Amino acid sequence: MRQIHDIHGGIHPPERKELSRPGNVIDGPVPAQLVLPLSQHIGAPASPVVNIGDQVLGGQMIAEAQGPVSVPVHAPSSGTVIAIESRAVPHASGMSDTCIVVELDGQDTWTPTSGITDWRQHNRLELMNCVRQAGIAGLGGAGFPTAIKLASDRDEGIHTLIINGTECEPYISADDTVMQCYAEEIVAGAEILAHIVGAETILLAVEDNKPDAAAAMTAAAQNCEMAEVVTFPTKYPSGGEKQLIEILLNAQVPSGGIPADIGVLCQNPSTAIAVLEAITLGKPLTTRVTTVTGEAVGDPGNRRVMLGTPIKDLLGQAGFDSTAGNRVLHGGPMMGFAVTDLDMPVVKITNCVLAPTAEELPPPQPAQPCIRCGHCAEACPASLLPQQLYWYARAKDHEQLERHNLLDCIECGACAYVCPSHIPLVQYYRSAKSGIKDAQQEKIRSDNSRGRFEARQERLEREATAKEAKRAARKAAAEARAASGEDPVQAAIERAKAKKAEQQEADS
Ligand code: SF4
Ligand code: SF4
Repeated sequence: MRQIHDIHGGIHPPERKELSRPGNVIDGPVPAQLVLPLSQHIGAPASPVVNIGDQVLGGQMIAEAQGPVSVPVHAPSSGTVIAIESRAVPHASGMSDTCIVVELDGQDTWTPTSGITDWRQHNRLELMNCVRQAGIAGLGGAGFPTAIKLASDRDEGIHTLIINGTECEPYISADDTVMQCYAEEIVAGAEILAHIVGAETILLAVEDNKPDAAAAMTAAAQNCEMAEVVTFPTKYPSGGEKQLIEILLNAQVPSGGIPADIGVLCQNPSTAIAVLEAITLGKPLTTRVTTVTGEAVGDPGNRRVMLGTPIKDLLGQAGFDSTAGNRVLHGGPMMGFAVTDLDMPVVKITNCVLAPTAEELPPPQPAQPCIRCGHCAEACPASLLPQQLYWYARAKDHEQLERHNLLDCIECGACAYVCPSHIPLVQYYRSAKSGIKDAQQEKIRSDNSRGRFEARQERLEREATAKEAKRAARKAAAEARAASGEDPVQAAIERAKAKKAEQQEADS
């Protein structure tokens, strides 16, 4: 029996997961149009390979990866490209971004696909390339390109693969449902992932508030010797990668580091299935299971949704009552953000669409001054000092923010949840992180400009020195000739004659 360890801090908000009736997957709506952002992942946006007016098939690549940290985008069904333009996309900042809009023809005609059945005979580079070409980015909510996570160049390699079925955020039950409905596929995908990274152990991690998922995973793991189901007490945010590694392995990922630094790889259950389908069927990632919940929807549940489906279509199918709902969130109540435009689409990271009533999830209360109670520090699972970070974020003191490890903040919101002054701490941290990122990019830009300027100065100085040396040599030669009494005119004629003779000799 594996020993379980506790993490610092954490909270126990009301779970409300039963509302979305985990355990069943409902078919999502078939919208008239799909809106497919080029950037549904962390890294460089994909680049379109189709034009307006093109007919596309389901599974066809419509935008290719650009650079190493990027993934392609595929059409989830057949239709016509009717626009490539800026549309509202799910993002905490409420931004718009370039999307390919496909009007569906209702035929759902697919491009032929083929997979690799004997994947154990293929090397890791080939398999990683299949994962990359399938457009797979982590489906747990972070959206990091999966192939990049698999490409650890650590000398000691990866010893443990964790399938992170923690899903600790209230309301969301997509992972729970996927584990109940597709446990065998998850284990099969995990075996491929373990083969790619060379892991000897697979831990299937499930919080103890999901007994049906744990039972399904245990049954599915029976025939896989390297897989072990581990359950542990429910606490938010146990699903953070660093927190989960601490719970299961009593190991700490270093500050600023990633799990691969200590030989661990974490993947979401749905990502494992996407990898299985990419390798064995050649099927790209075009759908995902998303929780649609909240008391403002009449038919909550977990739906298999085509990527690009407008959130309003998804809510419409779930019986959303806009008069009852006070807002719609992308994600859960802790880490989610407001959907500012219901036309924005479901993307690879959309694990939940939450439409609560005002009574159910009241709007945030006005912030009051910090009373230095320290509750936020007690709740922080990353052992940070949230109140200090808050002061430094307000002062835009990047140096102190970095010194106090702001970049280790997982934006879980536990600190804001317990704050009696209702300070929206996470908003300050997000904004500060983006300020630090901008400053770092600006520094890189100015370092590059300074480098170019200094290189030019050095070149000009080298040329000036060489010119001066030649001039000095000519002057010294002239002075030497004058001192020897040589006739300068006759000497010039002789030099010209000698040069001509050399030329004739060379030409003959
Ligand atoms: S919980 Fe809120 S009021 Fe208390 S120290 Fe932290 S930021 Fe200040
Ligand atoms: S949001 Fe950041 S600072 Fe606040 S509790 Fe979570 S990890 Fe700690």
